[in-house]
Amino acid sequence: MRIARFSHKNQTRFGIVSESEIEVFQGDPIESMELSGEKLNLSEVKFLAPVTPSKVVCIGLNYSAHAAEIEQDVQKEPLFFFKPSSAIIGIGEEIVLPSQSQQVELEVELVVVIGKTAKNVSKEAANDYIFGYTVGNDVTARDLQFSDLQWARSKAFDTFCPIGPWIETEFSPEKVALSSFVNGEKRQSSRSDDMIFDIPTIISFVSQNITLLPGDIIMTGSPAGISKISHGDLVECEIEGIGVLANPVT
Ligand code: MG
Repeated sequence: MRIARFSHKNQTRFGIVSESEIEVFQGDPIESMELSGEKLNLSEVKFLAPVTPSKVVCIGLNYSAHAAEIEQDVQKEPLFFFKPSSAIIGIGEEIVLPSQSQQVELEVELVVVIGKTAKNVSKEAANDYIFGYTVGNDVTARDLQFSDLQWARSKAFDTFCPIGPWIETEFSPEKVALSSFVNGEKRQSSRSDDMIFDIPTIISFVSQNITLLPGDIIMTGSPAGISKISHGDLVECEIEGIGVLANPVT
């Protein structure tokens, strides 16, 4: 099922998306899947980022071809960093290029949405903690990523975490195509089975180190083919079986 967060008449709500309409939940479906009985036409709603996490955990260097293109060594354990929740935007919202960077780049990533509190979770149990999946773009100021000692600033600017368009709850992440496009021209094309660390390994590893809360998201790393985005571009990130996340750049 496709679960969206949306605004309608100045209210933020959640619902199940079908072809032409949206079935509205009582509240946040991560807490309770109870429906309100209300149905809205898709044309009446504006999609928002599908989740509001307490933290965005990002896995770095999880595709060897990407690690090679940015001249980094593949790690023995998952490498993780964070983006602030203030960076999150939804489908259709503008990615704003900051004046501090001359080289802002896109990174299509498969995003895991956590459904319940996860601490010291085993690989075998990891799937029980997943609510669903969405598409993300780990927008990065590539010049600042390596001129700064840490990656924090280069990954954290406002609007640098587009996610959406919705959460897909019936999805097998093992062998799906990931791709990104700038103005319709393909920039990245890979498959999730090229990941170095799979999703159960990532959830287990992260949860041995920090507690994941319901609604937290994990961005699972970018494949190769990163490229610069510029003012006026339309960036589209697509994952087979989930959908397309499109954002203009300004
Ligand atoms: Mg990334």
